[in-house]
Amino acid sequence: MSRPKIAILGAGYGGIMTAARLQKEMGTNEVEVTLVNKHDYHYQTTWLHEPAAGTMHHDKTRIMINDVIDTNKIKFVKDTVVEVKPDEKRVILSKGELVYDYLVLALGFEPATFGIKGLKENAFSIRSVNSVRKIREHIEYQFASYNNESERRDDLLTIIVGGAGFTGIEFVGELAERVPELCKEFDIPRDRVKIINVEASPTVLPGFDEELVEYAMNLLERKGVEFRTNTMIKEVTEDGVILGEDEEVKSATVVWTGGVQGNSIVANSGFETNRGRVPVRKDQRTPDYDNVFVVGDCALLINEEINRPYPPTAQVAIQAAGTVSKNLLSLVRGNELESFTPDIKGTVASLGKGEAIGKVGNKKLYGSTASAMKKIIDNRYLFMLGGPGLVWKKGKLKLF
Ligand code: FAD
Ligand code: NAD
Repeated sequence: MSRPKIAILGAGYGGIMTAARLQKEMGTNEVEVTLVNKHDYHYQTTWLHEPAAGTMHHDKTRIMINDVIDTNKIKFVKDTVVEVKPDEKRVILSKGELVYDYLVLALGFEPATFGIKGLKENAFSIRSVNSVRKIREHIEYQFASYNNESERRDDLLTIIVGGAGFTGIEFVGELAERVPELCKEFDIPRDRVKIINVEASPTVLPGFDEELVEYAMNLLERKGVEFRTNTMIKEVTEDGVILGEDEEVKSATVVWTGGVQGNSIVANSGFETNRGRVPVRKDQRTPDYDNVFVVGDCALLINEEINRPYPPTAQVAIQAAGTVSKNLLSLVRGNELESFTPDIKGTVASLGKGEAIGKVGNKKLYGSTASAMKKIIDNRYLFMLGGPGLVWKKGKLKLF
């Protein structure tokens, strides 16, 4: 008798943790599991602001899939998902197709552009290893060009970061570390360089603890970051950005960190979505398909205490993977499915080397303590995925 086929699409936090859990929990010859991912590596999305600024090599964020998944137990297919046909239980890949009995959609996020003119064409985004390598190299090229231009071009040294949510703040924190190094390397006075973080809301990190926000802003301003709050990016052009009142700021580097949505493959495959995210049932299945689960940033989960969606985070994706792997096996075994409720431990955001802010439970963390906590969180994930060996190989071992 053929074994039930489980296909997991995407090896980000949600997908790879679902695969790792299944690998441990499934019986011998009980199910046939296939993991599909664009690359043969998993990457740490939560670290991408660092290689984007050039403060970390991008290879540090990469983990080879066959280092953490036993490919004798879980079949790995390196390919790009093009479309899912849920009524036919088929997945169209760029180089073939896959049939399944049970499916896990774990294709992650993409930048939300909100229809802003020129954004897609002219702005960079912090999305993948390839996208951040491009940002780092682009910035280096602008610095390298500056002293070779016949006239002074300040736009080459003006970096606009659009959106001051956690991604924007973490990125400007790294840029503030990197810019002095670049200035030294390319013979450029530091005061010629501008890092401008534009935020539509009245404050950066809207909704986060006010005291911690103030700490972050003061620290980053001291390091040369300029904040433009209450200011909307209306358009991105080849020359820079157009802000709220039609003010033009010339810049050769615009990085968009203004928000995310679920991978558009999900909506394009006909699943019900809200900003690209599937409003999942309590057991993480889609509203319409009993054999399709969604995990990570493609899933929309409502926090019933405040009647608002949980923010899409790695923390939630990792936890949800535990429920999804259990529920997949329960479906196969004919058992009851369990409900998922995220257990939010807190939020910690880095602000460059040795600096961070965070709230863990009711406790506020600042400076080096928060920074060490962030590294502990990162190392804990590596431990869950690949044990002490992976922490040793890829972890952030210097806490202070
Ligand atoms: P992803 O991590 O986006 O992974 C999706 C996977 O699917 C990738 O491997 C991708 O290559 C693959 N894929 C995509 N499309 C295809 C396709 N068509 N075919 C095949 N494969 C495909 N959250 C936190 O909890 N804590 C943090 O500190 C934190 N920091 C962050 C810092 C930054 C700079 C950013 C950008 C985000 C941060 N987040 C953080 C949010 C967190 O990274 C996301 O919520 C998380 O990555 C979502 O996990 P996921 O598994 O849904 O998707
Ligand atoms: P976000 O949606 O949280 O923040 C985007 C910001 O851009 C918002 O403050 C918004 O007001 C602003 N914005 C939107 N349109 C704009 C415009 N036209 N002009 C100027 N500003 C504009 O997105 P994000 O920061 O990419 O975060 C995505 C998810 O990842 C969130 O759930 C976040 O919590 C998570 N994340 C967590 C961490 C962490 O825990 N350390 C780090 C990064 C991201």
